[in-house]
Amino acid sequence: MKFVHTQGVVLRTADRKESDRLLTVLSPELGRILVLARGCRKPKSKFLSCSQLFCYGDLILQPYRDIYIMNQAEVRNSFFDIRSDMERLSGATYIANLTEEVATTGENNFPLFRLLLAGLSYFAFGEKDLAGRMLIYELKLMDLIGYRPVLDTCVICGNHPVGSAFSFRPEQGGLVCENCRGSDPSGIPISRETSRVMQKILDADIDECFRLPISLGEKEQLNRILPAYIEQKLENKIKSRDFLKSFFI
Ligand SMILES: [Zn+2]
Repeated sequence: MKFVHTQGVVLRTADRKESDRLLTVLSPELGRILVLARGCRKPKSKFLSCSQLFCYGDLILQPYRDIYIMNQAEVRNSFFDIRSDMERLSGATYIANLTEEVATTGENNFPLFRLLLAGLSYFAFGEKDLAGRMLIYELKLMDLIGYRPVLDTCVICGNHPVGSAFSFRPEQGGLVCENCRGSDPSGIPISRETSRVMQKILDADIDECFRLPISLGEKEQLNRILPAYIEQKLENKIKSRDFLKSFFI
């Protein structure tokens, strides 16, 4: 019998018959996979903690048709503190939903896995500015899946943007300079400062980027730009983001 040893984070859970649960898991080596945890909802199950939403663990899995059966599991971090308030829980739910949306099955993606762990750590244990950390997560995730916004040249004229008031065009994924802005009524306003913050986030590594400060004005702009950009590129809207508006910004 062939077993696969991997790590995983639970992105979604769905209860099945008896006390089983089907988990959507992100694995650094296998990408997004479905894992059946048999009997995990029984109080004495050895899979009880590992089958909870957000749980990060070491897994030994048995391939079965197009899913995996959980054979052994050991918790590394349950990120239980995410459940301590609604702001943390709704933010973490959103980043799990967004990550699930972009992750592909059967394809390794170590940076995406690292980003997810860093994001969940922040939503579990971070002290302040969860809204800013969510925006950083969104931008970094888009970069990791190949949608790095163009910030050093105008997407219309190709010149280095001069001035201080630009706009951002989600369709082209980049800045429109002050000169071309008049011909771009659909662009979202973005200041030079916000574009610099975006560049810093993109240039920083995953651990560093979450420590970057973002002002209220920059957050307000990013909170318009990033959802529009994500929706444009993924051709899908992540519903759990709407809920965050009542908590963030
Ligand atoms: Zn231009």
